[in-house]
Amino acid sequence: TVAVVLFTSDLRLHDHPPLHAALKAADEVVPLFVLDTGIHAAGFDAPNRRAFLADCLSDLDSSLRRRGGRLVVRTGPVVREVRAVAAECGATEVHVAAGVTAYAHRREERLREELGGGDVALRVHETVITAVAPGAVTPSGSDHFAVFTPYFRRWSQEPPRKPLAAPRTVRVPHGVRGEPLPDRADVAGTSPGLPTGGETAGRDRFARWSRSGLSRYEDRHDDLAADATSRLSPYLHFGALSPVELVHRARRHGGSGAEAFVRQVCWRDFHHQVLAARPEASVKDYRTRHDQWRDEEDAVEDIAAWRDGRTGYPVVDAAMRQLRHEGWMHNRARLLVASFLTKTLYVDWRIGARHFLDLLVDGDVVNNQLNWQWVAGTGTDTRPHRVLNPLVQAKRFDPDGTYVRRWVPELTGVDGGKVHEPWRLPAEEREALDYPDPLIDLADGLARFKHARGRD
Ligand code: FAD
Repeated sequence: TVAVVLFTSDLRLHDHPPLHAALKAADEVVPLFVLDTGIHAAGFDAPNRRAFLADCLSDLDSSLRRRGGRLVVRTGPVVREVRAVAAECGATEVHVAAGVTAYAHRREERLREELGGGDVALRVHETVITAVAPGAVTPSGSDHFAVFTPYFRRWSQEPPRKPLAAPRTVRVPHGVRGEPLPDRADVAGTSPGLPTGGETAGRDRFARWSRSGLSRYEDRHDDLAADATSRLSPYLHFGALSPVELVHRARRHGGSGAEAFVRQVCWRDFHHQVLAARPEASVKDYRTRHDQWRDEEDAVEDIAAWRDGRTGYPVVDAAMRQLRHEGWMHNRARLLVASFLTKTLYVDWRIGARHFLDLLVDGDVVNNQLNWQWVAGTGTDTRPHRVLNPLVQAKRFDPDGTYVRRWVPELTGVDGGKVHEPWRLPAEEREALDYPDPLIDLADGLARFKHARGRD
């Protein structure tokens, strides 16, 4: 017998329940990935993610080849391709992990309908995208948790699933047509500092980082210059790493750093269960509606300065340039640039979220949109009126300015924490810098924000 395993957001061999089950159920297995033209049409395949995906697929193919198999890649509407592959190899089963987005649910429904007719059975396995499936824990009287802390408490009590080992051998039938694997080198417009994708790179990264990073995580994760976070988000996004396995390994490591890390991984699950229950929150305000954002046309120059890292606030500019250069940004930096756009410049969070999705290698609708809403005060933050002052943030999380000097070359000659306020430098020194004046007076931004939110 033959079974098809459809890989989606789970590009790995370790801890892969659908692959595990298919190998048990059938003699031969076709590991299939479809470059889904439906996702392409939705505009979500930004160059950084397309390049990272190419790495993930090459790595998955190499790992399968070491086990006697290979990856079959096809391009087209996903349901059509799965049906064609199943017919070509005479498969009786298709295995896939349950999705957590509205798109994935539709894909499952259509697979169920179109594979039907009785010959090919669809086997949908538990989700592998989150550590705890959306909806698995709920508060009484609601279908999801709207506040993180009580969710985290309940989530922490869930008995963890034991991660599965990678298979030793994978036998693939002859004669299934595949396409050449996509190549990262063919993707134009990627960020120069983009990391290498794939399960192997992700596992190496976790192994290296966890040796010292995990125990120091609690103390150092907010330090912008130390860059002490795991940088595992893109691997989690593509499922090159299993969140179940990460939680398992962090808990086994133990200590307050590991606990703090697990708490962050839980934020991913938290957002997933919010969006699973309220899919419209990817575009609409989740809790508190705000419709007084500035007109995009009026704010066009401010938005461009923010995107290009030319706001005149060095920490904001450093972060925006890091995003462009690496396709990634430190979480503390994401918080402060998002606050600057939505609360200081009073620009709609959707505009910022779109720019992030265009560049972030870990960019996903769930975590991106809901984090943006959290910062904008329309989402799950229980203190929606807090404003992160970029100067206070800079002095606290980049006290001697190392992060700023790393990303803003115009300011490399300015020593220590003075780099955060170039406008205070002596006039001559200031004029010699090719660096813009602040785009806005922070006090004016705050006054507009308070007025718009009816708090003055
Ligand atoms: P670590 O600090 O090492 O954390 C470990 C893992 O926990 C991360 O890899 C990530 O999967 C998860 N995590 C940590 N913080 C969060 C969080 N606040 N929400 C959800 N998961 C979290 N993360 C994305 O994965 N994709 C996005 O598109 C995304 N957009 C964001 C937009 C904004 C405005 C903000 C404020 C945050 C966003 N985040 C997003 C969350 C967070 O910034 C990144 O997950 C984190 O910076 C990734 O770096 P890391 O792997 O080193 O994280």
